[in-house]
Amino acid sequence: SGPDPEALLNGLNPQQRDAVVHTGSPLLVVAGAGSGKTRVLTHRIAYLLAGGVHAGQIMAITFTNKAAAEMKERVVDLVGRRANAMWVSTFHSMCVRVLRREAKTLGLSSNFSIYDADDSRRLITMVARELDLDSKRYPARTLAVHISNLKNELLTPEDAAEQAGNDMERKVAQVYAAYQRRLVDSNAMDFDDLIMRTVQLLQGHPAVAEHYRRRFRHVLVDEYQDTNHAQYVLVRELVGTEATDTGVEPAELCVVGDADQSIYAFRGATIRNIEEFERDYPQARTILLEQNYRSTQTILSAANAVIRRNPNRRDKRLWSDAGDGEPIVGYVGDNEHDEAAFVAGEIDRLVDEGIATFNDIAVFYRTNNQSRVFEEVFIRLGLPYRVVGGVRFYERREVRDALAYLRVLDNPEDTVSLRRILNVPRRGIGDRAESVVAAHAEQERISFAAALRKAAAGEVPLPTRSRNAIAGFVALLDELQAVAAESDVAEVLEAVLERTGYRAELEASDDPQDATRVENLTELVTVAREFTETRAGAAPTTTDSGVDPSAESVVAAVLPAGADDEDAADLPADDSLSAFLERVSLVADADSLPESGDGVVTLMTLHTAKGLEFPVVFCTGWEDGVFPHLRALGEPAELAEERRLAYVGITRARQRLYVSRALMRSAWGQPMTNPASRFLTEIPEELMHWRRIEPERAAPQVRSTWGTRGGFDRTGADSAQAGLAARGMRSTGRKGWKDTVAIKLSAGDRVTHDKYGLGTVLSTEGEGPRATATIDFGSSGTVRLMLIGSVPITKL
Ligand code: ATP
Ligand code: MG
Repeated sequence: SGPDPEALLNGLNPQQRDAVVHTGSPLLVVAGAGSGKTRVLTHRIAYLLAGGVHAGQIMAITFTNKAAAEMKERVVDLVGRRANAMWVSTFHSMCVRVLRREAKTLGLSSNFSIYDADDSRRLITMVARELDLDSKRYPARTLAVHISNLKNELLTPEDAAEQAGNDMERKVAQVYAAYQRRLVDSNAMDFDDLIMRTVQLLQGHPAVAEHYRRRFRHVLVDEYQDTNHAQYVLVRELVGTEATDTGVEPAELCVVGDADQSIYAFRGATIRNIEEFERDYPQARTILLEQNYRSTQTILSAANAVIRRNPNRRDKRLWSDAGDGEPIVGYVGDNEHDEAAFVAGEIDRLVDEGIATFNDIAVFYRTNNQSRVFEEVFIRLGLPYRVVGGVRFYERREVRDALAYLRVLDNPEDTVSLRRILNVPRRGIGDRAESVVAAHAEQERISFAAALRKAAAGEVPLPTRSRNAIAGFVALLDELQAVAAESDVAEVLEAVLERTGYRAELEASDDPQDATRVENLTELVTVAREFTETRAGAAPTTTDSGVDPSAESVVAAVLPAGADDEDAADLPADDSLSAFLERVSLVADADSLPESGDGVVTLMTLHTAKGLEFPVVFCTGWEDGVFPHLRALGEPAELAEERRLAYVGITRARQRLYVSRALMRSAWGQPMTNPASRFLTEIPEELMHWRRIEPERAAPQVRSTWGTRGGFDRTGADSAQAGLAARGMRSTGRKGWKDTVAIKLSAGDRVTHDKYGLGTVLSTEGEGPRATATIDFGSSGTVRLMLIGSVPITKL
């Protein structure tokens, strides 16, 4: 009944078609941004389904849960609901699913906890303290990075001990071993374990590997450039490189990626995986895509010019037939507030003039803390926005506390969660009592949970008061356990908040922050309720409205992977506490993206922008020391990664791109003067239209300061001056102001003037060609200006 497979090839170019219909050998699609790699994956899946492949035979891996949900949705659009039985998920979600199913084989219980970075750092801190390590010399954060790197290389504690060559490495190996033991005791896995344990499962149990290979005949991976070694091996183990003894042929593998968009080297991602695909899979076929369907030629030329500066890369010829479109708009702010005001003003104008909707617009920055300035001005101007990432919902203290209770109820051995809530809210179990119990656990080689029960029974030497407090806590947990046995997640959560006194304590507080905490907990209950409803009823993914929009995004993020899976046999109890906690643990930054239609501007870091596209993009903070990041300045490898990040940023834009920077920016409470980002200067001048440039450069008489203030690293003073002069010409040229003179000013408007800088309109008089405005330019004085002809003024 399904659609005609051939019809699915319409709307693809010949290379894309080749990639969609290719069968047999492994397939690598390498291509620049916006060339349709993700579209090829989606259409390939649809084509397979239309050609008779069963959805249950398909496994697709994306970089975020959100991307997974979108891919599934598109495929369903193309071929109908039966596509729901596919596995489309992130590496981590996929591994959790496999591990829960195969827990017995590995000697695990299937309700293991998933520790995120924060949990894992807490456990490492506990371990390091027990090993008496100096926390200055061996900070938990550093140890965590080292351990994570080892796991990404699939190295066990024994491997680590064996190859340790210096003191730090020896200490890391020691902590790694103890940490790993603790994870097992706690029936927990960290993110890296999810991958590593799955690899070990497949490698150590050929029958299990064969089961999955028989089942998943098609494996597809998006964003392949950001896989690390462990993920690479995982894929290889899944598909196999030769037939098994019982004659199961390797599964069909299709990976797509772009080496120029590899931006996770710090997490162990390695472009090697893409560069050596052909060597790893000798029969592999490689297909290149060269047409970009996303951006205008101007945007593409800018991206190409920047990425071309990276050494050791294969040059690609990426072109677009979308036409040149608008020039790239540049803006130099006096400081970060001025820059943000420009961005906000421009967004207001674009929406006002019907050029874009809020949804069409994204603002990118390098690090999360840069969002604050934008939020301030957006709030002031009443622009709707949403920040992706940052201090995330699930990182808030109260949310983590509540979840820790749920985790302990789900997995009583979860040490990190148990110790987190031991005295939260305060119930008289002090640090001393905690360490006595921990020491007892260590001495008796039993879990912390078991030691705690012994303490409650009076079998651990403790003062009576502590003992009673612990006994009370244990009784409370048992009581909640009984609730958990017969209630859904939301009810359990309510019981936790109620019976622990957690909510009452917050409600009794005068601290306004605590009021917000109560709201967040209510939001969490909503998330839990939505989760149960969605799992129980068949109606997937859509969330009830009437919920706070920010809660909605959380719900959306929690639900996608597998939420509407018809292949339910694979999942543990669908609406179980485990299933809920699993979703929550695997929510990544990029998953909390607003649903389209929300009517908000999206603010996010460049990293979270990967794979997305927006009609209008603002790239902000393009200053050396901000972007590229300070620590990359002297490091060629890191600088190359930052440049790839610039490439990712630029290529998210479809029609309009803005690039801005600030002359001064506060960092660590100090105002810093930042030169232009080298990436900014790598964009050819002829593609740019400067809305505002550095004041010095607008006034050619102060030549002597150009070189230093401009921060351009073009070689030779002459070419630097030529470049600057070109910018100066452009700024005083009339072209730029044409649109702004049409704008009416009124009292209170913020403006920027080529000569006087930033100002506030005090009053206006007259109309049309007689219109004048009195503007307060701060230290440059108050000036009355005629708003005619070519007055170099821009309304912010
Ligand atoms: P990135 O490298 O950023 O992940 P990508 O290579 O995955 O990009 P897609 O997101 O698949 O690219 O496609 C970019 C845009 O171009 C999308 O809007 C997609 O729908 C469109 N597109 C891709 N191929 C075609 C085509 N043959 N005809 C029309 N539009 C296309
Ligand atoms: Mg893509």
